[in-house]
Amino acid sequence: MDRLNSADIDRLDTDDPLRGFRDRFVLPEGVIYLDGNSLGALPRAVPERVSRMLTDEWGRNLIGGWLKDGWMDKPLALGDRLAGLIGAGPGEVAVVDTTSINLFKLLSAALAMRPDRRVILSNPENFPTDLYMAQGLIEQLGGRHELRLVPETGIAGAIDEDTAVVMLTETNFKSGAVFDMAAVTAAAHAKGALTLWDLAHSAGAFPVDLNACGGDFAVGCSYKYLNAGPGGPAFLFVASRHQADARQPLTGWLGHADPFAFQTDFRPAEGIRRHVCSSPGVIGLVALEAALDVMLDADMHAIRRKSIALGDLFIRLVEQECPDAGFQLISPRAAHETRPWGRGSQVSFAHPDGYAIIQSLIARGVIGDFRDPDVLRFGFTPLYTRFADVWDAVQQLRAVLDADEHRDPTYAVRAAVT
Ligand SMILES: *Cc1c(COP(=O)(O)O)cnc(C)c1O
Repeated sequence: MDRLNSADIDRLDTDDPLRGFRDRFVLPEGVIYLDGNSLGALPRAVPERVSRMLTDEWGRNLIGGWLKDGWMDKPLALGDRLAGLIGAGPGEVAVVDTTSINLFKLLSAALAMRPDRRVILSNPENFPTDLYMAQGLIEQLGGRHELRLVPETGIAGAIDEDTAVVMLTETNFKSGAVFDMAAVTAAAHAKGALTLWDLAHSAGAFPVDLNACGGDFAVGCSYKYLNAGPGGPAFLFVASRHQADARQPLTGWLGHADPFAFQTDFRPAEGIRRHVCSSPGVIGLVALEAALDVMLDADMHAIRRKSIALGDLFIRLVEQECPDAGFQLISPRAAHETRPWGRGSQVSFAHPDGYAIIQSLIARGVIGDFRDPDVLRFGFTPLYTRFADVWDAVQQLRAVLDADEHRDPTYAVRAAVT
């Protein structure tokens, strides 16, 4: 393959149909941000929208804001706006709570819908909070269930008549590998099992089509590729065909059929609203609202095309510029648009000095992150990452290695957040 040079890269940026979106984000000078898969960058419209909520809505309308400013409806209204990004229909998505809590709620609902089955099937490579929440729920239910962990490639074959729920994260957080959601869901349904998909590293990263895949339940967060800010509200999806049967245990007053009747006994609301528990965090919701405006202005297929191009370029440049440096690609090399084990919007390399290399890159203004034991993770967010950023990041990586900056003894100790 021909060596790429910086003129080739400039051409890619000039031809990029999404290049106008970068101005809609706040990005500090001198920083190349390749960690939008962990915390998306700040959309310019968010501070203004949050400030308007504080001064014009809360400040002026006080408690009247719940109706006048639509605060009470936001979990479902934003759910409907977000639905298009994940292939859900109206009334199938609510924006509430956190990913972990939503997982607990929907896993519980799914188990109750398969009372004769004992097994929650997942994979050891799943994100730990998903496994921990399942373990906590099993304990809560008296230990009758089993969390069975099977490596990613064996999942479809491990589904049997005792499987109640197949609980998977669509995009692996370390490797960026993407499950074939349609195939796994079909395999689950063939055995009478339900599926619960965690879309944390999928929503906003590439087109997701829950309904085309026949998905039953899903959860995900808004602060990664959806750019809603640290701790932004999460979402949950319940396919409309399950909504009458799905009951979740966190039966707070706002999931009641008639919350303002203040009755003694809980009666679930119809539809997705029964999965709302408490008063929504409106500041976080309006931040998501403004962030979604940006996302929904972009064509998700164009986002996917650029995401693949950025990832392909990064892999090619790392291999071109640092050929004997010991990096081992652990993400799928091919990121097909139709995804039989494609790659999400991140590229990960394993390296024995991974932590120190990431710290050295951060010192040079290139922000990626590190995941135990030896994974360097780089996220590509097509709305604000340029091809030139990928080029510059790899030049900085080359410079770190040339100067042995990662041998600095201060990097021998790990920080609390990696
Ligand atoms: C980021 C992430 C979460 C985060 O859970 P919170 O409850 O929002 O902290 C959950 N699951 C997966 C797969 C993630 O990547």
